[in-house]
Amino acid sequence: MSTQIILKVLALRHRLRQRDRWTRPQLEAHQDRALHRLRRHAYARSPFYRRFHKGVTDCPLGDLPILTKEMVMEHFDELVTDPTVRLADVEAHLATLSGGDELFNGRHRVASTSGSTGRRGIFLWDPDEWATILASYNRSFDWAGVGAGLTHRTKMAVVSSTIPWHQSARVGASVHSPWVPTLRMDSGDQLGSIVERLNDFQPKVLVAYASMAHLLAEEQLADRLRISPGFVFASSEVFTEQARRRIEEAWGNKPFEVYAATEPAGIASECEQHQGMHLFEDLVMTEVVDEKNRPVPPGVYGHKVLVTVLFSRTMPLIRYEMSDSVRPATSPHCPCGRPFALTEDGIQGRAEDVLRFPATSGGQVSVQPIVFHRVMDAVPAGGWQVVQGPEGLTVLLSGVREGFADAALIDSLRQELAAQGAIVPPVKVRRVPNIPRTTVGKAPLIKAYLPASEMLRRNP
Ligand SMILES: [Zn+2]
Repeated sequence: MSTQIILKVLALRHRLRQRDRWTRPQLEAHQDRALHRLRRHAYARSPFYRRFHKGVTDCPLGDLPILTKEMVMEHFDELVTDPTVRLADVEAHLATLSGGDELFNGRHRVASTSGSTGRRGIFLWDPDEWATILASYNRSFDWAGVGAGLTHRTKMAVVSSTIPWHQSARVGASVHSPWVPTLRMDSGDQLGSIVERLNDFQPKVLVAYASMAHLLAEEQLADRLRISPGFVFASSEVFTEQARRRIEEAWGNKPFEVYAATEPAGIASECEQHQGMHLFEDLVMTEVVDEKNRPVPPGVYGHKVLVTVLFSRTMPLIRYEMSDSVRPATSPHCPCGRPFALTEDGIQGRAEDVLRFPATSGGQVSVQPIVFHRVMDAVPAGGWQVVQGPEGLTVLLSGVREGFADAALIDSLRQELAAQGAIVPPVKVRRVPNIPRTTVGKAPLIKAYLPASEMLRRNP
């Protein structure tokens, strides 16, 4: 990592720490100023935003139109505020990435989303934005009390994606330093090999996709993995109650959930009180909304979130839609005293994880991911996936502990679906050695069968 970036991140980290002591009005005043600066920049430099927000440039945030990933990609060259940045060139650069800290035009870092939910998105950041992204990821460690980062030598193991265009690989390449000896592994690797490398490395901090953190806890409890991390962070996937429990059993400490995505980087994270996740409201304004983009009340899961990335300049993101389902906390106060709003527990899943079934009363019922979590949480398995196909529901189970009967699970799923008002489809259980992972190494809990035409639309 270059000295210049280190200094920038250190300065930012200091500034972010001070914000932990802000009052709510101080935070809100900061948001107003930052949003104003972002919008002024976008209107001055982005032909797309001048057109997109025409007539509403003075309206409050909640009145502005929603920005989707498809729109970003469609209008990329006009949306970026640097006229020398062209999508065709950025794509060509992306194809040359080989896992180092490569820069586009000698200035921008580029990453892409996997395209698991539609067209892949391409995003880029200048050095100031990138430093903020690194500081925002560092905040999760700070809040957990790791006290490490750039100035203490803390051994860290990260099991996520090592695909060069993925943001976690890009972050890894740029924070690579002697201060944080880091072992980075791909969660698509063989579990046995991951376990072996972790045993050799003995990390003090473990960061992994939620499903992988759970699998590793099972390996520890089975005495194949023998590490003693003081801190475990789970990210990027639904973090089930069962996974939390097993991680605590395995290593004796409560794990920390981190909510982040390529476009805004860190969005929310747990503090040492584990009262849900605090939103990083000073960096990203997050609106939790229903299908019609109306804010949901506390305690209710939203259909999606709209993020406004206050520090975005190269690609301003204002009311950018993401399909994650979270719920604002009913009790917003945390004993830690930080001014940042809480979400109640973690991410429930994405809008795509809501399964639709024919209803007994006619029409369709939507079954929320939480319904499946409730049933599956009682299953003593290292991993699971519910797949809705044309011929019914198939539940994949891996690493099932002895004495578990599939028939009981089938019964509870059928009962639960009937209680939801669904015409209960055929349900079967398949035991598999591993839950299949996506190209970026994630193992989704719920998958819906899509008709061929829809598949084609999503993955052209
Ligand atoms: Zn707190």
